Amino acid sequence: MRTRNFALIAAALLLVSGCGHTEKKQARTAGHRLAAGTKAGAKAGARARTAPAPPQRPPAQRRIDCDRLKCVALTFDDGPGPYTNGLLDVLKKDGVRATFFVLGQNARSFPAMVRREVMEGHEVGDHSWDHPQLTGLSAAAVKSQIQRTQDAITRASGGVKPTIMRPPYGATNRRVGQTIGMPLILWSVDTEDWRYLNTARDTRVGIKEPKPGGVILFHDIHKPSVKAIPAVIEGLKKRGFTFVTVSELFEGRQLKPGQTYSERMAPKPASPAPVTASPPPSGSPAGPAPSPSKSRPQQAEGH
Ligand SMILES: [Zn+2]
Repeated sequence: MRTRNFALIAAALLLVSGCGHTEKKQARTAGHRLAAGTKAGAKAGARARTAPAPPQRPPAQRRIDCDRLKCVALTFDDGPGPYTNGLLDVLKKDGVRATFFVLGQNARSFPAMVRREVMEGHEVGDHSWDHPQLTGLSAAAVKSQIQRTQDAITRASGGVKPTIMRPPYGATNRRVGQTIGMPLILWSVDTEDWRYLNTARDTRVGIKEPKPGGVILFHDIHKPSVKAIPAVIEGLKKRGFTFVTVSELFEGRQLKPGQTYSERMAPKPASPAPVTASPPPSGSPAGPAPSPSKSRPQQAEGH
């Protein structure tokens, strides 16, 4: 009953204010939901009694050429939460690697899930400690939001420290970017899953909107979003997409600390040089630095 009350309160708050203000409730309900979730886990455990022990270190990052393949990165914000383990089961079954932008407070509450994310080849990024709008904080407060989260994730994962950050609501500016000191990863497809909480809509948008090199934003703290993922994966596979983590997506592109990125930048156009072109003089740059992707609104609700 308590769980249901919290869930209703969380849902009501969500309608009013987006995901940012519901996380404490979500975190509080997570313990109850997890208790229910462990039944499924126990069943799976019984089936897989002979399975090998869980890995002690994460698998290596793969080398996937996203200039040639149609790559896409699934990203999940605000967790871990009550539905994260179920999502990880789906991703494992489908052989899909994703990226989780986790909150420090939730990493502290559910360290085993952060560890599972890392050990199963997913990337974990920093999403602040408790989801404030960073542009409204002092530099010291921003630093604290990031550092505490980095520490919680590193502890939970057994030593893997995030190298990418997603600012809550996508809200950033030059000062915040400099203080964070990591590349800031936004998105090219905003499913607005937190707003509609509708699996059919999440599925439709998740399959239809991504373009090669895209970054899709979902939230693993919402049940309808997690329920949509098997169909989203199937639909995107049918469209010929390869699923990669954010770092895999940007492989070969230099990401700068404090800059925002929302999709993989297009490759440099092939040079029309003749076949007998001489090599560039030594010490010359390889070419113009890739420009940061097209800028996104500095602030959006509900991320
Ligand atoms: Zn968020």
